[in-house]
Amino acid sequence: MSAHRCGFAALIGRPNVGKSTLLNALTGHKISIVSPKPQTTRHRVLGLVNLPEAQIAFVDTPGLHRQEGRALNRAMNRTAAAAALDADLILFVVEALRFGDEDELALQRAREANRPIVAVVNKVDTARPRDKLLPYIAQLTARHAFADIVPVSALDAGDMRRLVELIARHLPESPPLFPAEQLTDRSENFRIAEVIREKLTLELNEELPYGIAVEVEGTGEEEDGQLVVSAVIWVDRSGQKPIVIGAKGERLKRVGGSARRELNQLLGRRLHLNLWVKVREDWADSAHALRQLGLE
Ligand code: GDP
Ligand code: MG
Repeated sequence: MSAHRCGFAALIGRPNVGKSTLLNALTGHKISIVSPKPQTTRHRVLGLVNLPEAQIAFVDTPGLHRQEGRALNRAMNRTAAAAALDADLILFVVEALRFGDEDELALQRAREANRPIVAVVNKVDTARPRDKLLPYIAQLTARHAFADIVPVSALDAGDMRRLVELIARHLPESPPLFPAEQLTDRSENFRIAEVIREKLTLELNEELPYGIAVEVEGTGEEEDGQLVVSAVIWVDRSGQKPIVIGAKGERLKRVGGSARRELNQLLGRRLHLNLWVKVREDWADSAHALRQLGLE
């Protein structure tokens, strides 16, 4: 029998290539939030997979991007680069048939970590025309001596199974580092706040999602077992407050409803959500506010 393997595999790439979707599909659990908008992921999030012969600690990261204007953006780029440095293996994620400046920047950061890199060519289900895929992969080969190049769709369970097995083979020999039943390193309150932020991001247009942070202030247990959660939605300008709340509170109600339904499922218990919208001017530019929100 071959030795047990275990290590950290960091998902690195520009925003929106599907890193968080891959983390969820590879682990089979909704651990990281996902939206069609770039820069949804702000934290480093761990997702664990156990095989008979290996344990993989996947690390989801914020997308590496160029805009470095705000403290939040700088913190996100630092988080991603640090995760690459700490990893045993880097999964450099690109979108099939696309390779731009930000992909190049992300590959550069990945290279600097001096670890083996597997290129994951995601979203092949959307790649048209299909016969461009092989030349695309040939171009990738020329960009870096990747340990492997794997075309996948995060929506295809077979692709995910094969990718998990391939990644396991690239990890160092080691006993498991986490208990077998552990799913993530993130607390329940973190997951609650993130699901609320995901539903807000899906509701809001354009710029607004980046000005939003969610903080769970407290939870309490009711006698009937229901979990009562109080959370604050921080906006960075007072003009955004009515937008988040919506006419007659409609939007906030919709966001609360869909977050509650998903969390009921995710946590396997009934939740009651109390949501408050508060203004904290320019929190995304303030190192102090970022620290308080756990983003530094
Ligand atoms: P991230 O910023 O790299 O974490 O990207 P996300 O995981 O948030 O995904 C960005 C968007 O791409 C979302 O709308 C996903 O549903 C979509 N997506 C991710 N992977 C795939 C895939 O393999 N196929 C298709 N069709 N869509 C995908
Ligand atoms: Mg993400």
